[in-house]
Amino acid sequence: MSYNMETFIQLRRALHQIPEPGFKEFKTQQLILSYLSTLPSERLEIETWRTGILVKVSGTNPSIRIGYRTDMDGLPISENTSYAFQSQHQGFMHACGHDIHMAITLGILTHFAHNPHQDDLIFIFEPAEEGPGGALPMMASAQFQKWKPDLIMALHIAPDYPVGTIATRPGILFANTSELFVDLYGTGGHAARPHQANDMVIATSHLATQLQTIVSRNVDPLDSVIVTIGKMTAGTKQNIIADHGRLEGTIRTLTLAAMEKVKARIQSMVEATAIGYHCKTEIDWGCSYCQVENHVKPTQHFMHWAQAQPDINLVECSVAMTGEDFGYFLREIPGFMFWLGVDTPYGLHHPQIEPNEKAIAVAIQTMCNYISEIRQSDS
Ligand SMILES: [Zn+2]
Ligand SMILES: [Zn+2]
Repeated sequence: MSYNMETFIQLRRALHQIPEPGFKEFKTQQLILSYLSTLPSERLEIETWRTGILVKVSGTNPSIRIGYRTDMDGLPISENTSYAFQSQHQGFMHACGHDIHMAITLGILTHFAHNPHQDDLIFIFEPAEEGPGGALPMMASAQFQKWKPDLIMALHIAPDYPVGTIATRPGILFANTSELFVDLYGTGGHAARPHQANDMVIATSHLATQLQTIVSRNVDPLDSVIVTIGKMTAGTKQNIIADHGRLEGTIRTLTLAAMEKVKARIQSMVEATAIGYHCKTEIDWGCSYCQVENHVKPTQHFMHWAQAQPDINLVECSVAMTGEDFGYFLREIPGFMFWLGVDTPYGLHHPQIEPNEKAIAVAIQTMCNYISEIRQSDS
């Protein structure tokens, strides 16, 4: 090998220091582009799309395009790790492992830049995964359409599995998710003159309670749905009747049909609240991700292969109620996503998460070996 795994640990650390929010990954994009410029260039073609990057590594005798995707953005979290290479962007942190995902992607890309595959490989660096969502607009871009892969793969770090574990399943892996913001506008007034006001504390709290009946009364008990209201605000002072209330929450479902049904119920309940309490209401669905549904054939092919690898512990996992916008890629392109064990007691999006960097070499090695074996018939 003409490269060293240490390179990708160093790249991960450099990326860890510059976490940036969605569509503002300017330094991240620069760092990746400048690394790419050090690779043998004969087979590389590079395109940028906003703060994202697409790289084509031409195959020796291509018949299909094999895609591999990483996300790029950090989160608005203040880092609290023991790292010497902590975030230099105050209030931002790579707390979802996207720094690790990028380093792994650069490792795989480097391998094939030196040892070309028979087929074309397309490496996709997607911005704004955490929000507002880079997948859909990126897929619509001319740069993506030009190199649209026939098969696509991605991984996500998994804090609760040991290093060396890969976990996935055919079919649905991650839930459908949608945010939910509801504003209610009434009429404020003096606390002692309720008949002249229209109290949004009452309307908002009634709606919050009513929304909890969706899962218990409208959803099939054998289906899994979450409606969580994480924040409720109304009013300004103890003796003033509130003229505004707001609910903020999230919805998770395992089918698109369930998501549509839940949204329709919420819509009705909000409209009914507007009528019942003589107020104005507004719903904002915020950012939503479609389910990550692994295609059965390529997933089983990968799982079967991984099972036979002595260094990998393959786990067939259950569905996670988290969201990931890789689901949009899988809606159009066959492929799969898997969890990569990084063994840390802190969960994703936690300010103290310290993924084990040994997982970087595991993933690079695994994906280089696996991609090397893929032939057209497997896609
Ligand atoms: Zn995340
Ligand atoms: Zn993530």
